[in-house]
Amino acid sequence: MAARIVARGIGANIRSMGRQFIAGESAEGALSVLRKFRKKGLAFTIDILGEAVVSETEADAYARQYIDLLEVMGREAASWEGLAPGTDGLDWGSSPKINVSVKASAMYSQMNARAFDHSIGKAKERLRPILRRAMEVGAFVNVDMEHRSLKSLTLALYRSLMEEPEFKGYPHTGIAIQAYLRESEQDVSNLIDWCRAHNQSITIRLVKGAYWDTEVMTARQNNWPVPVFTNKHDSDANFERVARLVLGNHQHLSLACGSHNIRSIAAVIETAHEMRVPEDRLEFQILYGMAEPIRNALLKDGLRLRLYAPIGDLVPGMAYLVRRLLENTSNESFLRKSFLESVSRDELLRDPASVAASNRTLLGVSETGDGAEESVAKQKDEMGPFRNIPPFDWTLAERRNGMVQAIKNARADLPLQVPLQIGGEAVETEVTIRSINPNRPEEVVGLVASSSAEQAKTAICAAKAAFTDWRDTPTTKRAGYLFKAAELARKRRYELCALQILEAGKTWSE
Ligand SMILES: Cc1cc2nc3c(=O)[nH]c(=O)nc-3n(C[C@H](O)[C@H](O)[C@H](O)COP(=O)(O)OP(=O)(O)OC[C@H]3O[C@@H](n4cnc5c(N)ncnc54)[C@H](O)[C@@H]3O)c2cc1C
Repeated sequence: MAARIVARGIGANIRSMGRQFIAGESAEGALSVLRKFRKKGLAFTIDILGEAVVSETEADAYARQYIDLLEVMGREAASWEGLAPGTDGLDWGSSPKINVSVKASAMYSQMNARAFDHSIGKAKERLRPILRRAMEVGAFVNVDMEHRSLKSLTLALYRSLMEEPEFKGYPHTGIAIQAYLRESEQDVSNLIDWCRAHNQSITIRLVKGAYWDTEVMTARQNNWPVPVFTNKHDSDANFERVARLVLGNHQHLSLACGSHNIRSIAAVIETAHEMRVPEDRLEFQILYGMAEPIRNALLKDGLRLRLYAPIGDLVPGMAYLVRRLLENTSNESFLRKSFLESVSRDELLRDPASVAASNRTLLGVSETGDGAEESVAKQKDEMGPFRNIPPFDWTLAERRNGMVQAIKNARADLPLQVPLQIGGEAVETEVTIRSINPNRPEEVVGLVASSSAEQAKTAICAAKAAFTDWRDTPTTKRAGYLFKAAELARKRRYELCALQILEAGKTWSE
C-alpha cells in the first residue's frame, strides 16, 4: 500500500517535470503551445522524443511520426504570419516557420560505426522521405548531435544526404556541433570545406554538448583519450572560438547559438557585430522550459529566438529529461551558478579562455592540456604498471579501414596450412582437420595437421625433455618471453583479430 502511494507520488512528480520540458504529447496537442510561442515572437523547432531505437519497427514508427508532424504543421503554418511583419511568409524574412530536429540514432536500429556505410545507407532510407516532405512544405530540418560514438556517422550521414541531387542546394538544413569536443573546431573546418566544394549553405547549431559525463566515463573505461574538455572554461572558450569560425564563414554557414549562458550569448552577439555578420545568418536557440529570464531578455533585445520544443510520450522522453535534470543540477551549470548560487555578474561574464589559462597555471598542467591527460596518468600510476591495451575505437576511419584490409589480406592466404610443432620443428601430416568459417561454411580457414598417436607420443617426449631446462629458466626470463609474445600480438593485432573473425565468427568489437 505504502509502496503504491510512493510510486504514485513519484509518477506525479515525473509527469509534472515532463510538462515543464515537453511541449505536448503529439503534434496536435502541442499546437496551442506553439501558437502561444509565436504570439510572443518566438520561433520553434520540434523534436519528437525518442532516440537510440532498438528495432526497425520502432525506427519506422519514429520516421512516420515526423512525416505526420510535417503534414500537421504544413496545414497549420499556412495561416501563420511570418515573425516580423511583411516578411513574405518566412520568419524574419529568411527562416521557414516550420522547423524540426531529428536524431540519427532514431533512424536505424543498428546504427554503428563498425558498419559505417551500411548504417548510413539504412538511416538515409528513413531520412529521405522526411527531408522530401520537409522540402514540400518548406520546412527546416536539423540533425541533432548525440554521443561521440555516433558523431562521425551523423556528420557523414548529413553530408551524404545533402549531396544527393534531389536535396543538393536546399538551404534550410543544419547540424548540431558540440563545443565540448576537442575536435569540434576541426569538424566545423571540414564542414566549411565541404560547403565550399558543394556550393551548399547550411546552419550550424552550436551547443556545448549534453553527454559530458558519458563521454568521460566511456573514454576512461576503454583507456581512450578523453574526447571532451574536462575543464568547463575550456568548453566555454571553445564555444566562443568555434562560434567565431562559423560567423567568419557566413557566406556558407549560419549560426544557431544554442546556449543559456549569457557570457556565451554575449560573446556571439559581439563577434557577429564585429564581423558585420548579416542578420539572417544568426539566431539564438534555447530549450523549452529552461532559462525563461534569458529568453525574455533576448526577445526584448529584438534578437531572433527559437525554442527547442520536444513533443511525445514521457517514456521515450526519459533520456531527454534526465539530460535536462543533469544539466540543471550540475555544479558547472551556468544556470545553477546564476540563478541558484547568485555568483556575481562580473564572475559570470569573465573571459573563459583567460580563466582556463589561469586555472592551468594554478594546477601546473601543460599549456594546451586541461588536466585530463595528467589525471589519466595519475590513475595509471595508482593502478600499477599493467593495463589492458585500449580496444579499437571504431569511430576512427583508420581503424575501420585497417580491419577491412586485414580481413582482405587474411582471406588471400586461406586456407592456412597449420603443421604440428614437435620439439621446435614443424611437422606436416597426411590427415588434416578442416577449420571452417562458421559464418560461411564453404570457406575453409585452415587445414590443421591431425596428429597420429605416434606423433603425439613424440611430442610428449620432446616436452618432457625440455621440462628441466624450462623449470630452471629464471622467472624474469620466462616473463620476458610472455612480454615478447604480447608485443608480437600487439604488432599483429589486426591480423590476429581478422583470423578470429574468420575462424570463430567473432564480431569486430569482440
Ligand atoms: C536549442 C538547443 C539544442 C540543443 N541540441 C543539442 C544537441 O543536438 N546535442 C547535444 O549534445 N546537446 C544539445 N543541446 C543541449 C546543450 O548541449 C546543453 O543545453 C548545453 O550544453 C548547456 O550549455 P549552456 O551554454 O546553456 O550552459 P553552461 O552551463 O554554460 O554549460 C554547460 C555545459 O558545459 C559542459 N561542461 C560541463 N561540465 C564540464 C567540465 N567539467 N568540463 C568541460 N565541459 C563541461 C557541458 O557541455 C555542459 O552541458 C541543445 C541545447 C539547445 C539550447
